[in-house]
Amino acid sequence: MADIKILPQTIVNKIAAGEVIERPASVIKELVENSIDAGALRIEMQLEDSGKKLIRVSDNGAGMEREDVELAFHSHATSKLKEAEDIFSIDTLGFRGEALPSIGSVSQARILSRPKGALTGSEITIEGGNLHKIKEKGAPEGTQVDVHNLFYNIPVRRKFLKSTQTEMAHISEMVIRFALAYPNIHFSTLHNGKNVSLFPSARNARERIETIFGNEMCKELISINSEEPELSIFGYVLPPTYTRPNSKMQYVFLNGRFIRDSTLHHAINNAYRNLLMSKRSPIVFLFLHVDSSEVDVNVHPTKREVRFRNAGIIHDQIYSAINSALKQTQSQYQPSLQTANQDTYSKLETSHGKREESVMESMSDFFSNSLERKIDSQAGLYEKGQKNEYVSQPLEKFIPSGNILLTSFLQIHNSYIVEETDQGLNIIDQHALHEIILYHEICDHIKNSKLVTQNLLIPELIELTPADYVAIMDLKDMLNRLGLEIEEFGKNTIAIRTHPQILKNLNYGDLVQSLLKEINNSEVRPNTDDVLSKVVNILACKGAVKSGQKLNSQEIQALLDKKKKSSMTNFCPHGRPTILEFKISDLEKQFKRK
Ligand code: ADP
Ligand code: MG
Repeated sequence: MADIKILPQTIVNKIAAGEVIERPASVIKELVENSIDAGALRIEMQLEDSGKKLIRVSDNGAGMEREDVELAFHSHATSKLKEAEDIFSIDTLGFRGEALPSIGSVSQARILSRPKGALTGSEITIEGGNLHKIKEKGAPEGTQVDVHNLFYNIPVRRKFLKSTQTEMAHISEMVIRFALAYPNIHFSTLHNGKNVSLFPSARNARERIETIFGNEMCKELISINSEEPELSIFGYVLPPTYTRPNSKMQYVFLNGRFIRDSTLHHAINNAYRNLLMSKRSPIVFLFLHVDSSEVDVNVHPTKREVRFRNAGIIHDQIYSAINSALKQTQSQYQPSLQTANQDTYSKLETSHGKREESVMESMSDFFSNSLERKIDSQAGLYEKGQKNEYVSQPLEKFIPSGNILLTSFLQIHNSYIVEETDQGLNIIDQHALHEIILYHEICDHIKNSKLVTQNLLIPELIELTPADYVAIMDLKDMLNRLGLEIEEFGKNTIAIRTHPQILKNLNYGDLVQSLLKEINNSEVRPNTDDVLSKVVNILACKGAVKSGQKLNSQEIQALLDKKKKSSMTNFCPHGRPTILEFKISDLEKQFKRK
């Protein structure tokens, strides 16, 4: 008895859809690629319920003849490969003829298209892989594809779709990638009837980058240009002073396709080696062109990964292009950047100065009255062993360079510092001590109206649930006063634009979540004073070195120096002790020497 069966095409398509179509953003990717391949200069996206209910992509491209519309939902139906050899030199974004049948097998979809110059258009619909009859229908020139109820027939997949905000974030990122790769194409996105992004046709990549990321960033771009027979590289990178916590802003395009490739990212990161703080990633926009016969794009179902014929040469060329651009500009940008930053400060101070002054007055009242009151126990805030890669800035600033260390100390278990004292020894909880030091520093800065805010080059976007969004927006004014400027950014998403200068490298997502936890835990609506003190607590906690974080001897020295300079460091803001003291006389008693 033979057990092997050839699967029906509808099931094959569903399986293929599992690889290519993961979420609404993947549908957008496939449809927009088709529009670009069709030569469209205007691509409009309309979404309902973050694409779960409807994804519509309309373009003004070449359109399809009736026979093509009829075939488009068939698997392996493509107009882009004519000969078998073509697969080795692909100039279009699509070529497998898999996207439309895949989409059609997991949704209720429709194509409406009219080729340029034709009198009428055609329409075809498909439902869970079942194709309906083609109809003649009036239509604008170009193509419109509608995808309703994605995964309606695969409930597990539908269940795995994330919140509206998350799916929208994936879609926005996808649209940004296309917008960067094709500056001349006009892209617009509507979500539930509201305009969420609009990128009018731009003259070049730089102009597009400016539309997407703002003029502030655009001013800092360093050009990259490198032409070799194998590879041409064009694009921009940012100086090492501008970094991200992950590689998300490494936009690399190969022949118009967004790619992630470990060789390329290795080359990029290497070019920045020793210029970045550990675990930070540079920001780059690179547009690579290779002869399409030099690269195999057919290795990954969504074509995000590629295989180069000569990866080594490409790696080295990218490395040296970035490296020499950074070197060339280094001498210029370092001083000029500082002045640029200072300009930003002074601008900030003048534009917000008035407002902040009066606010600061009332704030300082608050702080002088309630500084002591604040040092009470507030459970639930202290998260031990939490990962934080960064040594916070205030510590670094106080590193005595080249000093010979006089006191003897030792870090144990990456969490405690044992310090020799005149009368014995101290065991210090490094996080708790740094936290209370920062706490006082923040309070002092506020009291003396010295709280300087610094612009974030790239606003940090945080998606929230609708309830959390409302809760945070309620605190907006208060957070502003603490140097965290927050703005509404699309539905249920906030943008953090500034941070207090004394606290760098905060993990903003973490910070906001801690804050929300605090607010949500309190039964009654907290008054401003409460919230303010809680935020200062959280800021100090998030800004402080963590338990489990290895410190070098200079960092430890800096911490101990600060301890010496400030009073009131014996208890952390939550009321737990920061230092345990042991007298030598106590030790002698314990060892029965006395
Ligand atoms: P592929 O893009 O790999 O060829 P698809 O399934 O994505 O496969 O599309 C199948 C075919 O349908 C394409 O080859 C193209 O001829 C046609 N097509 C799809 N979308 C469009 C569009 N927006 N405009 C014109 N033709 C299109
Ligand atoms: Mg395609």
